[in-house]
Amino acid sequence: MKNFRAIHDQKIIDAWAAQISRRNKGIGKAQLFLIITLALLGLWIYFGHSLIAVFLFIGVFTSFVISQLVDRATLLCPNCHESPISAMQHGTAEDTDFCVHCYYWLKSPYGNSRDTQV
Ligand SMILES: [Zn+2]
Repeated sequence: MKNFRAIHDQKIIDAWAAQISRRNKGIGKAQLFLIITLALLGLWIYFGHSLIAVFLFIGVFTSFVISQLVDRATLLCPNCHESPISAMQHGTAEDTDFCVHCYYWLKSPYGNSRDTQV
C-alpha cells in the first residue's frame, strides 16, 4: 500500500480557491452556456426531428469536449504547476481535494471555515 500523506498549506489552498473563482467566471460560464445549448438542441432533436439540430448538437458537443480539455490543461496545481488530477480521471480538476502529483491539499480538509484553526 502506498504511503498516503497530504500536505496542508493554507497558501496553496487560498491560491487554488482564487484560481477556481477566476475559472468559474471565464471558462466555467462558457461551459454552462454550452450545456444549456446542448439541452435545448436535444429538445429540438427530440421534438423537431431536424437534421440541422443534429449537426448543431454535434458541433456544440465538440466545443464542449474541447473546452473540457482546455480547462484540464489550464487549471494547474499552485504548488507543482501540473494538473492536479491524473490522466485517467474524468471531468475537470475543480472538484478534486488534493493534487495527485505533490499531495498538497487544494481544499482544506478541515472544512471551509477559516476560523477553525487546528
Ligand atoms: Zn501539485
